[in-house]
Amino acid sequence: MTAELHVDLGTLAGNIAHVRATVAPAELMLVVKDDAYGHGLAAVVRRAWSEGVRWFGAFDVRTGCAVREELGPDARIFVWIAASAAEVAAGVAAGLDLGIGDAALLEDAAAAAAASDVRVRVHLKIDTGLHRNGVRPDEWPAFTARAAALETDGAIEVIGVWSHIAEASDAEDDLARHAFDDAVETARRAGLRPVVRHLAASAAAVARSEYRYDMVRIGAFAYGIRSAGGPGESELGVRPIAALRAPVLSVEEDGVHVGVGALHGLPSMLAGRIQAGTPAGPRAVRAIAGAESVLEPWTDAAAGQSVAIYGANDQAPLTATDLGEAIDTIGEEIAVRVSPEVLRVYSA
Ligand SMILES: *Cc1c(COP(=O)(O)O)cnc(C)c1O
Repeated sequence: MTAELHVDLGTLAGNIAHVRATVAPAELMLVVKDDAYGHGLAAVVRRAWSEGVRWFGAFDVRTGCAVREELGPDARIFVWIAASAAEVAAGVAAGLDLGIGDAALLEDAAAAAAASDVRVRVHLKIDTGLHRNGVRPDEWPAFTARAAALETDGAIEVIGVWSHIAEASDAEDDLARHAFDDAVETARRAGLRPVVRHLAASAAAVARSEYRYDMVRIGAFAYGIRSAGGPGESELGVRPIAALRAPVLSVEEDGVHVGVGALHGLPSMLAGRIQAGTPAGPRAVRAIAGAESVLEPWTDAAAGQSVAIYGANDQAPLTATDLGEAIDTIGEEIAVRVSPEVLRVYSA
């Protein structure tokens, strides 16, 4: 018996439907980086596809190719990290939409497309303040002019303009949004016709309509992971899709030993700071070792019972984001750390 991550794909579908309804008419791109935030890429993208999601945000080319393999030629797959000309060429070959925030990569993309006689779809990235691989505003006019020339040559098709925002303060995000609007305007003046403008991730997309543009990139909320320090799940209308479960291994002097620990990705700093869900209700997690943890005991505790370290509130007292907050991090961090060795168990 071993730790398991129970993933409820029906809940994923419900979260997606709710967020889509909230952001409509903007399109939802489902972000599936980090093995779909630890939930398992294949099962997540297949279910999302059958729910009608057509855009996937895959981060890197390798993940993008994996999504292509799962979903076939009709899926739109956006990747935004291509570190080398070879990766760009692999992305072009797989028919991925490439996020380009660098003049040299734009040339690589055009060259790769020309070499294989295809047109590559690109989304140009403006740096709106986060300073993460975007083109700076002072370089943007030359960059968009060059993109327009390459588009005329036929190697690239500029489908989108995009950026990423901090979602830390409304004031900062508003500055970023104005910089984004300026960048779109500049691109249009260069002769480009970007039909997919995208700026927001979960928090801004759901909270603020003016951030939605044509598409929003949604990861966390689809998985039911609320933002640390932000609105609760019920206010957002989503529910955690996963519960981390562990079997009771033995009942000993120091407490109830359960089969999940730091080796499974549970941060040992959580010891003494969280409660797990047991058959008798919430119990403190006293210690977290490599392969097991020790819980405050309950009457009738016995080997073979199951506890939930985190999950939706009817499964566990705490969610992944609650655990994150207990050690000053975010729920996504808790979710993506769950080791690949922890078996993913899916329900429909
Ligand atoms: C991870 C990521 C997202 C999704 O963010 P969530 O807050 O999980 O919705 C969107 N865009 C980019 C560029 C990202 O890296």
